[in-house]
Amino acid sequence: MDHELKWILDRAIAGDRLEDAEALALFATRDRQVWEIAAAADRVREARAGNKVTWVRNQNINVTNLCVNACGFCGYSKKPGDEGIYFHGRDEIQKKARMAKERQVSEICTVSGLHPDFTAQSYIDVYRWIHEAAPGVHLHASNPMEVAYAARKSGMTTGEVLVAMKEAGLHSMCGTAAEILVDPVRDTICGEKIPTQEWIRIIREAHAMGIRTTATIMYGHCETDADIVAHLAILREIQDETHGFTEFVPLSFIHMNTPIFRAGKARAGATGRQDLLMVAVSRLFLDNFRNIQVSWVKEGIKLAQLGLIAGANDLGGTMFEESISKGAGAVNTDYLDPAEMKRVAEDVGRPLRRRTTLYELV
Ligand code: SF4
Repeated sequence: MDHELKWILDRAIAGDRLEDAEALALFATRDRQVWEIAAAADRVREARAGNKVTWVRNQNINVTNLCVNACGFCGYSKKPGDEGIYFHGRDEIQKKARMAKERQVSEICTVSGLHPDFTAQSYIDVYRWIHEAAPGVHLHASNPMEVAYAARKSGMTTGEVLVAMKEAGLHSMCGTAAEILVDPVRDTICGEKIPTQEWIRIIREAHAMGIRTTATIMYGHCETDADIVAHLAILREIQDETHGFTEFVPLSFIHMNTPIFRAGKARAGATGRQDLLMVAVSRLFLDNFRNIQVSWVKEGIKLAQLGLIAGANDLGGTMFEESISKGAGAVNTDYLDPAEMKRVAEDVGRPLRRRTTLYELV
């Protein structure tokens, strides 16, 4: 192994915090030393998160695909007049929530387009309807973009929106809409989304209220390795302050039906090397995160399995219904049978255990 690489990996295994430049050097690795990085990340995973591979029984409810934004990486949203628009009202949402309860999910997830008529009350109504139909289920919903949008549409502060959402039964929030927390990249891929500092501010606000969130990154489009490291450094700094992130979830860009790919402004997604390094380097760099999830929805189950021996300890959820990645061109995104999760976890010598959204074992 190369001297510099060995130095970096030994430091990470010993529990030392890696510098940005060291993470950058790891991301630049292109040859068989990728496996050395994955092996080091696997050792760190074992020490920090143990051997269990976890999963959560969850269901998505996408309320509407109408959206006032037009993010360049999104193949899901529709504009008024487009074909295939949907908007689910109370009856349909409660039907889906009841079905989720019958399937014994412990978590319902809602994220949707930013409907032109939505206000803070719209989100609150949806949360209440879900709780009426599926009492006891953990509601994992919204994200900083939706909070900012609800605040703007209702003349409220984001803090007031979060309080109202919490009172309506929001248990934890999605750390999506992060994409890449570097404004010039955001300008290219999602110029209408909240800027980096606003995302950070709302996440801190949520954590301060006891609303825990996930942390995500969407990579494999037009970002550089330096952008990825800058993003990871922001997440690590927030986690030092708040300890409010439950997990880190790398989301590999699904390019097929997206405007930025069609316009030649984005690569055709990450390569397998990049997907593996994303998991491994995150595990080594994010020394204050216990949980690193591999997304079978974005990566497919085979690459997700390799992520389990490259630093990841979690396979995410069963889903049951998924429209956002499917809209962008992903396949097999609707449901993953826990029996298949067990097969791939045990195939790499690890036990599979069910968890709640907040990582309590059940
Ligand atoms: S990513 Fe979200 S905010 Fe952006 S266009 Fe798609 S649905 Fe709308």
